[in-house]
Amino acid sequence: MFLLIMGPPGSGKGTQAKVLARKYQIPHISSGDIFRQAMEIDDVLGKELQLAINKGQLVPDELTNKIVERRLLQEDCQKGFILDGYPRTIAQADALGLLLERLGCGLNKVINLDVDSNVIIGRLSKRLLCKHCGASFNLITNPPRNEGVCDTCKSSLSVREDDNDKTVVDRINVYEEKTKPLIEYYNKKKILCNIKGDVDVVEATKAILACLER
Ligand SMILES: [Zn+2]
Repeated sequence: MFLLIMGPPGSGKGTQAKVLARKYQIPHISSGDIFRQAMEIDDVLGKELQLAINKGQLVPDELTNKIVERRLLQEDCQKGFILDGYPRTIAQADALGLLLERLGCGLNKVINLDVDSNVIIGRLSKRLLCKHCGASFNLITNPPRNEGVCDTCKSSLSVREDDNDKTVVDRINVYEEKTKPLIEYYNKKKILCNIKGDVDVVEATKAILACLER
């Protein structure tokens, strides 16, 4: 099963990707993980990536494509994978299409978790993190027992740094501009599963599996 999962930041795509990876026994390939791994390897790609990130730039498409390609050529990807966080742009999607063609396979389905931007902003701005032990909470879905205090270590909780309103809005704007066009791109190829993402995790998983098995 060759899959891709898409959705705005905070749509829960990482959670769904992990569930699907277990179910289909395929690796979960998240762009965050492969970037971290690439930086640990001290070669040309690793150095180039480190440089782009140090400058605070978006990683260029060409470099991203190379890093993903190296990962997809590994043996555990031969029978499938679930991509999460890549491709992010049409140019990356074109490169992925060419790579898969060369490898003699192609995406079976592209899952899009459709969640309204306002719902996302609400969800993300309600996440709390314990900087001491790393536990995370959510004011709505998983509140700490005592307000503002970590259940595990009793330290005080803070709003996740990348979740303050401006960052959230910036991330959503980048998504709307660069990534959202991919929905239509894959819809035209007739492999898109559009899933209502503002339901609970179990319900969203059921809807995804129903679409994949169709
Ligand atoms: Zn704690």
